[in-house]
Amino acid sequence: MRPEILYPLFADIASLKGVGSKTLKLLQNLLGGTKIVDLIFHLPSNIIDRSYRPKLRDAIPGRICTIRAKVIAHLPPKSKHQPYKVVVEDETEQLSLIFFKVYAETIAKNLPVGATRVISGKLEIFNGNLQMSHPDYIAREEDSSQIPIFETVYPLTAGISNKMINKYIDQALQKVPEMQEWLDEEFIKKQGWNSFRDALMKAHHPQYKTELEPFCKDRARLAYDELLANQLALAIVRERVKKQAGRVLKGNGLLRKKIMDTLPFALTNAQKNVLAEIYADQAEPFRMLRLLQGDVGSGKTIVALLAMLNAVESGVQAAIMAPTEILAKQHFETIAPMCEKIGVKVELLTGKTKGKKRAEILQELKEGKINIIVGTHALFQEDIAYKDLGFAVVDEQHRFGVHQRLSLSEKGNKCDILVMTATPIPRTLVLTSYGDMEYSKIDQLPEGRKPTETRVMPISKLNETVAALKRKIAEGVRAYWVCPLVEESEKSDLAAAEARFADLQKIFGPEVGLVHGKMKEAEKDKVMERFKKGAIKLLVATTVIEVGVNVPEATIMIIEHAERFGLAQLHQLRGRIKRGNVQGSCLLLYSLPLSATAQERLKIMRQTEDGFIIAEKDLELRGGGEILGTRQSGFCEFRLADMEYHKNLLFIANQDAKLILNKDPNLASPRGKALRNLLYLFEKDDSIKNYKA
Ligand code: ADP
Ligand code: MG
Repeated sequence: MRPEILYPLFADIASLKGVGSKTLKLLQNLLGGTKIVDLIFHLPSNIIDRSYRPKLRDAIPGRICTIRAKVIAHLPPKSKHQPYKVVVEDETEQLSLIFFKVYAETIAKNLPVGATRVISGKLEIFNGNLQMSHPDYIAREEDSSQIPIFETVYPLTAGISNKMINKYIDQALQKVPEMQEWLDEEFIKKQGWNSFRDALMKAHHPQYKTELEPFCKDRARLAYDELLANQLALAIVRERVKKQAGRVLKGNGLLRKKIMDTLPFALTNAQKNVLAEIYADQAEPFRMLRLLQGDVGSGKTIVALLAMLNAVESGVQAAIMAPTEILAKQHFETIAPMCEKIGVKVELLTGKTKGKKRAEILQELKEGKINIIVGTHALFQEDIAYKDLGFAVVDEQHRFGVHQRLSLSEKGNKCDILVMTATPIPRTLVLTSYGDMEYSKIDQLPEGRKPTETRVMPISKLNETVAALKRKIAEGVRAYWVCPLVEESEKSDLAAAEARFADLQKIFGPEVGLVHGKMKEAEKDKVMERFKKGAIKLLVATTVIEVGVNVPEATIMIIEHAERFGLAQLHQLRGRIKRGNVQGSCLLLYSLPLSATAQERLKIMRQTEDGFIIAEKDLELRGGGEILGTRQSGFCEFRLADMEYHKNLLFIANQDAKLILNKDPNLASPRGKALRNLLYLFEKDDSIKNYKA
């Protein structure tokens, strides 16, 4: 339950003075919520300094000025298109106030001839005369203190003025209670930070531009609070998963030895290290939830297989789940022949497995005759019962979030879970979005891998490209020709891919095939099958081949409109032609105009093949939020922290969270209690809902 001290902050914005239902809707769009907290975390973007109070003769046009002047005359417009003018003067000069579209009565009331007024706004020069259009403030002398010397400017939306939001935020800030400090006293002292409440007040009342910068101490403090809440919540979930009873999986190593004997290679050190971590987890009597990261071609499949064999040796069943039919099938085709040799039974179960075959598999799963099952989501449907599923590998999991992972881990019978992702994830994103899991990384490729040759060329070189391709294909090489298929322009993209296919057909004849996302699954499979067998030598494809397909003979890739692809996507695609001993060749064809970011992306692709570097760059170029071509909830959730500036704070928060839980797992100490407030403040209610008060 949310602590009472926070109730005022979770009251509805509608309870504030001056917020009607129309304003409320606008605010909701602007803030992403309708609670008081949503307002207090909406930080200013600028300040207007009104402290410049020159005499008119000395005033510098272009600046915001606050002047004291006497109203001399009103000059109403002579035609509809003219503005309403009011002439004022101080001891030194005259100034025209200009109003478009304002009621004459209001102007007459606010600026009676003969009166002295304090006026603030931007001074301009027009036809050699001083003027000010629509002054921001016009006040009587006795009220001039109402004109803020430093006016805080907030990000706005149409229909909400800066004055309005200032008023709302002022009211909201008054509801912020003094709370017990949740940060370590020493740490705060070292950083020179204010308390949460003071930092918040200061952040909303900046006096200098430097106080708007993410590094300034008050903003840093707030960012840290948000990051700590995130890291602590994830750490709590991680601990909770770990404490759940799990299976002790500790095989005798016989199957694993047999498999290793059949392999033409030895494991890399990175693979060995990662396996040691996985085996250690499996042997614990607690639930395992571990993320395995490795670049394309780093050899995750064999790692997953060995971990599954450890489970099979321990007498339980293992499952591996892929996000698509094609990928599931491919895993099956890799794993099944290897397992057959050592007497381990593997089957494939997807949405397409129907009728007798399906019934048979279900029966054998129930009886425990199947040791390893490969499949899609179909593996976890309700009618599927395992004899004893003890270990599950989930491949390509970047499509899922923390909550889906939790629900998955609740499915199996105390099932240990290994999550594999083929796309390198930047370290910061691992911490913020996958912080609920343990983490292993294969940071080394098998030896002897030849780097892919990557070239960038304008589409105008198409004819030469095709000629070169023709020679290569005559030599027996297979190639991909990738055309983009992006949602917004799907139809025209599809047409472009089909047109390219038709063009190439004229040159290559029946050796060209086409696959795209709009084709039926069976049709796609058929084309892919022919490409694998070599009946098709050149495969024109939209990005459906992005993840996972494996055709060893295909070592050339041409990517058309490469400027339209994201970095991570390009990296994944290129990974398809990375083979053991043959050098792959990747040609990035671009069309003009080329944006600065697109240029940068193509340059990075030429410079490096390291997926982790590419992932970091991708994040930088995209500014977070979107990665892997799918929307990632990673950084969008932060309101105060900004990964461009607060990376270091994230790493500190990560350590801090671990220390906190080590010392005080139930958050029962005074600091622990204060930290509960922090968690609720940032709406991490889920993570502590089971905690005793
Ligand atoms: P990914 O991490 O992309 O899933 P795979 O598991 O598909 O990579 O492995 C890519 C290729 O590398 C496969 O052909 C696999 O047999 C091979 N491979 C895996 N580990 C090694 C190793 N230690 N030495 C040499 N080749 C390896
Ligand atoms: Mg793979």
